[in-house]
Amino acid sequence: MIKLETLSQDQIKEMNRSNIINIIKQKGEITKQDIAIALKISIPTVTTNINQLMEEGLVEAAGVGDSTGGRKPIILKFVENARYSIGVDISPDRVRIILINLNNSIIDEASFVYEDAFSFREILQAVKVAIENMLEGNNIAKEKVSGVGISLPGLVDEDRLMLENAPNIGVRDFDFREFQDSLELKVFIENEANIAAYAEKEIGRTVNMRNVVYVSITEGVGTGIIIDQHIYKSSNKKAGEFGHMRISDAALQCNCGRTGCWELYASKKALFRYYREYTGKRAASLDEIFSADSLSQPKVQEAVEKYIDCLFIGIENIILALNPEFVIIGGELGKYEKEMMAQLNGRNNMKCSFFEYEGTKVVFSALKDKGSLIGAALLPFEELFNYEKSII
Ligand SMILES: [Zn+2]
Repeated sequence: MIKLETLSQDQIKEMNRSNIINIIKQKGEITKQDIAIALKISIPTVTTNINQLMEEGLVEAAGVGDSTGGRKPIILKFVENARYSIGVDISPDRVRIILINLNNSIIDEASFVYEDAFSFREILQAVKVAIENMLEGNNIAKEKVSGVGISLPGLVDEDRLMLENAPNIGVRDFDFREFQDSLELKVFIENEANIAAYAEKEIGRTVNMRNVVYVSITEGVGTGIIIDQHIYKSSNKKAGEFGHMRISDAALQCNCGRTGCWELYASKKALFRYYREYTGKRAASLDEIFSADSLSQPKVQEAVEKYIDCLFIGIENIILALNPEFVIIGGELGKYEKEMMAQLNGRNNMKCSFFEYEGTKVVFSALKDKGSLIGAALLPFEELFNYEKSII
């Protein structure tokens, strides 16, 4: 925790500015006087900041309030369409894009699937075209866009704009600066599970929770760690690779070069494999596995149970290592809370550990399978709303 007396003048200025923006955003309309009272800061400090925010177009006057003696106070209003942000989620088989405003309302969205033959550069070219079409279609100038946040399935060094290693999409050491220049918009990149954890912390199920681990289940298994409300990545940006902790001595080979990794047993791919092993059939989609008809078959139930067992081996290890308040299950599997719970309810021992394990609650993501996409869109707004950097 940062103690107030250790803050510099500049940090206090930044803190005041973001607190003022946040309170106007939260209330929608408020007077300077009420801001000063709520934040316990002086009227001149509020005035200086409001003048600046009005100049930037983020706040505008919206009439006058009732007088309590003296001049009638001016009501200030948050301009939700003063800035926009774009979120991009690149997963191993598709790309999703959203455009949001300052109130996090989704203005537009698009998605496309890509074939294995596509190079990463070709995918980014398609992303660029989609973004430009989206802005044009909504009549939004690039000057009004705070940036483009991109969620990636791999190790990310956000400071150097480098995707260091993403074995599930076959990309190594990719530099995003060229893409940023060609797009003429500020680009922010982050690992998919970290960014989903960030979204959950900002607007999801764990707002104000201090310690959380987000488990993102897609083609692989990624984890995002929140310690004391910060995303924990450590100094070499490699923390939180629980998907590659070894949980089996079987010689099953992982994309990372090792064997026995948790993601081989708990990813979406693993669920498809169990389904095939138990039923002798291939499933085309998760929707097919989790349909009511499918789940009524004992063989499918066994496959899902096997999957949940493997999922929980890893979750229990995470709980033993970090003892967070919450473990959140998200990613593509995050959509199937109801269906997975139905399988768990028949099993008493698992039911206990599911709801509470040594003080840790295991829950599904409130943002379902959209956590990383929404998180990506929130990133460019971070400078505006958070005076403290959220990623450590
Ligand atoms: Zn691995």
